[in-house]
Amino acid sequence: MSDSVSSPPATTERAPGAFQVLKVALPSPLRRLFDYLPAPRAPACGWLPGLRVRVPFGRRDVVGVVVSLASGSELPRAQLRAVSEALDDAPLPEDWQWLCQFTARYYQHSLGDTMQHAMPARLRQGHPMAGRTQTLWYARQGDDTPLQRAPRQAELYRLLRQHPHGLAGRAISAHGFTREQLHALQKKGLAEPQEITLTAGQPVSGSLLATPSLPLNREQATALAALHEKLDGYHPCLLEGVTGSGKTEVYLQLIEALAAKGKQSLVLVPEIGLTPQTLARFKSRFRVPVVALHSGLTDPERLDVWEAAASGRAMVIIGTRSAIFTPLAKPGAIIVDEEHDGSYKQHDGLRYHARDLAVARAHHHQIPLLLGSATPSLESLQQALSGVYRHLRLTQRPSRHPPAKLELLDMRHQRRQGGLLPGALQAIRQTLKAGKQALVFINRRGFAPSLACHSCGWLAECHQCDARMTLHRQPPLLACHHCDSRRALPDACPECGSGDLRALGSGTERTEETLQGLFPDTVVHRIDRDSTRKKESFEQVLKEIHRGEPCLLVGTQMLAKGHHLPHVTLVVVVNADGGLYAADFRALEHSAQLLEQVAGRAGRAAHPGRVLVQTLHPDDPHLGQLAEHGYGALARNLLEERRLAQLPPFCFMALLRVESPQEPAAMALTQQAAQALRQWLTDANLPVRCLGPVPAPMERRQNRYHLHVMITAQKRSHRHTAAHWLVQWLEAHRDARKVRWSVDIDPQTLA
Ligand code: ADP
Ligand code: ZN
Ligand code: ZN
Repeated sequence: MSDSVSSPPATTERAPGAFQVLKVALPSPLRRLFDYLPAPRAPACGWLPGLRVRVPFGRRDVVGVVVSLASGSELPRAQLRAVSEALDDAPLPEDWQWLCQFTARYYQHSLGDTMQHAMPARLRQGHPMAGRTQTLWYARQGDDTPLQRAPRQAELYRLLRQHPHGLAGRAISAHGFTREQLHALQKKGLAEPQEITLTAGQPVSGSLLATPSLPLNREQATALAALHEKLDGYHPCLLEGVTGSGKTEVYLQLIEALAAKGKQSLVLVPEIGLTPQTLARFKSRFRVPVVALHSGLTDPERLDVWEAAASGRAMVIIGTRSAIFTPLAKPGAIIVDEEHDGSYKQHDGLRYHARDLAVARAHHHQIPLLLGSATPSLESLQQALSGVYRHLRLTQRPSRHPPAKLELLDMRHQRRQGGLLPGALQAIRQTLKAGKQALVFINRRGFAPSLACHSCGWLAECHQCDARMTLHRQPPLLACHHCDSRRALPDACPECGSGDLRALGSGTERTEETLQGLFPDTVVHRIDRDSTRKKESFEQVLKEIHRGEPCLLVGTQMLAKGHHLPHVTLVVVVNADGGLYAADFRALEHSAQLLEQVAGRAGRAAHPGRVLVQTLHPDDPHLGQLAEHGYGALARNLLEERRLAQLPPFCFMALLRVESPQEPAAMALTQQAAQALRQWLTDANLPVRCLGPVPAPMERRQNRYHLHVMITAQKRSHRHTAAHWLVQWLEAHRDARKVRWSVDIDPQTLA
């Protein structure tokens, strides 16, 4: 390796502590830093923490980040390799470095891995910060007669001409054109590529706003005034406002106030909420640069946005979960919309919660934090109720129609068609007659949740999981929604040979089919992960829905959140019982949030709405409270129950998950780990509970056995200490390498 070239005279080797060492975080799950010697050529700024470097690692070359400098190493100098090169001539932003350090520490994750996760792909791959370019395609004037025999090329040519500012290759393929067609056009002299340098967030002169802000109603004005009072310093605040109460307008005016002071706002939205409509709303309001981090960006564009935020050019940065890692040069506020949303928690690898990191980050920057939701998480609500967060409320909608109350429909002993009760079908009929739209919410995609033999009782089960397979009709197959395995539909029962196989229950496909049969003259849109695999199809359907013709929407939670559906006046929930008696202590909270959000889709515009909720448990007290008094009341009640049971937010939790194809091996190791931890807790006299191992709720998944150990403590710091000890034990333990394990800090589900 070339690093030997720079080896200094042997004398220094005998004097450890006398040579400079760079401690580098590398893309490795190991929770440690790696020592390197500086490269022969130092970057312009000298060696500093935060510099990206390329280093030899094993037989590969990888990109890492210098975390600290030391004079000397535990290893003899001769065993150290040198950094190949520094990739930047200035360190990565300091606030970003701080956040990575905090995240790695809090979530007990490797710092190198955390940093990789927290930087744009281009930086991870070692590309320079500058020189962000992109190829755009333009139409050229020319002889287009040859296109008469190539209709697709003619269409593509038309498309390019409609975009005089150029189209990226990705956009062209999103329109359904191929590279070949594009190159054919280029050969004919009708299209040409151009490299352009990206610079998001170009400053614009003139006033702050492009369109005036709305005059606020009394509640909004009160909330905004309270926010205005505290624009400096760390001021966490929960904005609890019913769906459609105008929270976004409050965000917009808070952002305006900060932009007027030259400060940036970081806005987090749930995955499902970052729609072109949302973006348009922010972009059309401001003249100052608004940038968005969404899944449609190319890697160079993503880096461009990152840089625009880090340099302070972009004043408003909107993005989903991972946008929390965007550096800010002039941080003004962090806003988390729908703060309760499950998409803020990452469920594999680095299991962080963006809302919780937002809290930490706002505190670090000493800036206001605004958490908004119609259905706040019990964590945030408790902070607000106990006075740690300020609590602002919006109880009314500008449209004047209060959110509809839930009407419960008793499913017991009643015939259903496609999952729908006669009362629900009747209401749908009336809605269509009145020229309005109805939304049927059903939390199961596919045709039916299971396939059963009517002769012997056989049920189609997944060979790899403790789960039933879902019957799909489009295309026909059996699919496991837990491991994604698929099987052909059997013609006869594999147990008894009977041909009497029947679909049990209803999924979106079946409900769609039934409704289409009952209302043949009405368009039925099905919206779920299967129907919207293509990126544009969802947008297309939304556009059609917005035209306002009477129609029926059948959808999963993709439809339940965030979307403004002004013509929907009826919402039917096919089955509300999912979360009522689930083992997971958060299931009820999450299910109530979802119900309230779905209900919020009804009657948001000029027309009042109705929400019908089908249930097998019409007497359930929680459901009754939700229907009668709304989420706010139920949530306060649930908090009381959590307090009595000493569950989060009244305790702090960590969950060790262990999985392995071999159950005995996993069990033996997990038992050992739990016992070792319990012993240590006793010796250290630390008030922390350690429960388990217990099998996971679905013990076998994808042919692997899953075990859990639960750690709980009254104090966050105690939980941290215990989890840290456990992670170290596992890292040091040889047998732990034979299984897959992870420690989830503040787990959101116990699955
Ligand atoms: P939320 O974010 O709470 O769901 P939105 O901010 O999306 O609510 O507001 C719902 C609707 O009410 C939007 O169409 C918005 O334009 C409108 N709206 C909000 N505030 C006002 C206001 N002060 N005056 C008139 N319309 C408003
Ligand atoms: Zn059978
Ligand atoms: Zn499976």
